[in-house]
Amino acid sequence: MAQAARPVHYGSMSERIVIVGGGAGGLELACKLGRKLGRDAVSLVDQHLFHVWKPSLHEVAAGTLDIHQEGLSYEMLAHDNGFRFIFGAMAGLDTVAREVSVAAVHDETGDVLVPPREVPYDLLVISVGSTSNYFGIAGAAEHTVSLNSPADAERFRMAMLKLLTSAERRRKAGEPDAAVDIVIIGAGATGVELAAELREASVVHSHYGFRQIDPVRDVRITLLEGADRILEPLPERVSIAAATLLGERSVRIETGCRVASITATDVTDAQGRTFPADLVVWAAGIKAPAFLATLGLPTARNGAIEVGPDLRVVGRDRVFALGDCASCPMADGGRVPPRAQAAHQQASFLYKAFVQRKRGEPGAPHDRYVYKDYGSLVSIGTRDSVGNLMGNLFRSTWYVQGLIARLMYASLHLMHHQAVLGTMRTAVLAVARFLVRRATPQVKLH
Ligand SMILES: Cc1cc2nc3c(=O)[nH]c(=O)nc-3n(C[C@H](O)[C@H](O)[C@H](O)COP(=O)(O)OP(=O)(O)OC[C@H]3O[C@@H](n4cnc5c(N)ncnc54)[C@H](O)[C@@H]3O)c2cc1C
Repeated sequence: MAQAARPVHYGSMSERIVIVGGGAGGLELACKLGRKLGRDAVSLVDQHLFHVWKPSLHEVAAGTLDIHQEGLSYEMLAHDNGFRFIFGAMAGLDTVAREVSVAAVHDETGDVLVPPREVPYDLLVISVGSTSNYFGIAGAAEHTVSLNSPADAERFRMAMLKLLTSAERRRKAGEPDAAVDIVIIGAGATGVELAAELREASVVHSHYGFRQIDPVRDVRITLLEGADRILEPLPERVSIAAATLLGERSVRIETGCRVASITATDVTDAQGRTFPADLVVWAAGIKAPAFLATLGLPTARNGAIEVGPDLRVVGRDRVFALGDCASCPMADGGRVPPRAQAAHQQASFLYKAFVQRKRGEPGAPHDRYVYKDYGSLVSIGTRDSVGNLMGNLFRSTWYVQGLIARLMYASLHLMHHQAVLGTMRTAVLAVARFLVRRATPQVKLH
């Protein structure tokens, strides 16, 4: 008689997996592992109480996405997906004792909400994303806003509302030139998407009561780019199409413009040209969070943690890193780019590797992460997207624009929702809500 296969008890996993950073990659990993291995095996540490998918932050900044509706509570996700949530920022690491130090959490008045903690781990995954790289440009840190977190995006939104209100009031008071100047530095995907979203948001704002200011003439949006064209890493055809769409939306584009200094009122480039600016967005570069350099782990030039092809930190057996904060080699000698699709793929890779490890199976075929570039899609406002699709699926680069690009753009978000919410049905409903909202744009005014 054939022997029955021995059941695998994933819930009794003795190794505690701790994931630090519940973003595009870390949250997907925590949810998938939690559903598979259970609460005793998986913990997620994050410095915030709720999650917003980072590629949506330009919509939060423009006011077309309301974080109070769209933010997903980590406690709720932990309950639904079977992991433990630990609220606080990672502040230190002891790889000998295998403990992560989590800093105390304070309220606005400085009172301690949660004391500092030491969180023991057997396997640790660091997925804390990235922060702005100002490249030492004078005034950049003091006078610009970046889109690194929901709080940054909210700060931008509130600043813009105040500027619109002030311009409206000054117009009413008879000041004919009252206007708002927004300068975005960096015309990669973040800068381009924000410029287009802001233009649409300013049009919607004008319907809601800013009647003295003209949403196009009086909300002046300027995009500054150091390279010769916008979206430089993407094929030229995508850059040209995006520039045309931005031009139709009256966004001024200056390429070959190297910013030299920034003050509270303007931006100056290396040629001495000055651009008036009430609000400046920094979208010109990222680097790893500074605290990673204090952990005693090997780091690359941009501060990202050096990992091997299996995402294991170089020289450390039980510590892994993924996403923007990991410097991961590719076969051609390059590094995996800091993108949501890379974080998503790396989370899937580690999920399979950890489950295999639990089953006692050897590492192959998941012992080497290979980045698959499926192309890039850039959202140009609520109705348009442009981009290229590529990689194994299509064997060549396809240029896409319009509805197909819009749907493909939404599919990356759909994959994230599916990984996080568990069922395709819930994820489809979440994305359907997202698409309906985009078809009838609203802006948050409070
Ligand atoms: C406006 C915008 C648009 C974008 N559009 C695209 C796009 O269209 N396609 C694409 O591929 N990529 C896009 N990106 C890039 C993409 O968002 C990132 O590459 C991706 O989010 C990286 O995922 P991650 O998991 O590494 O980090 P993140 O998603 O940034 O998550 C990091 C998490 O770590 C937490 N954290 C940070 N420090 C600590 C700490 N000390 N302790 C505890 N928790 C901590 C944060 O709170 C956060 O939850 C865009 C980015 C922006 C800003």
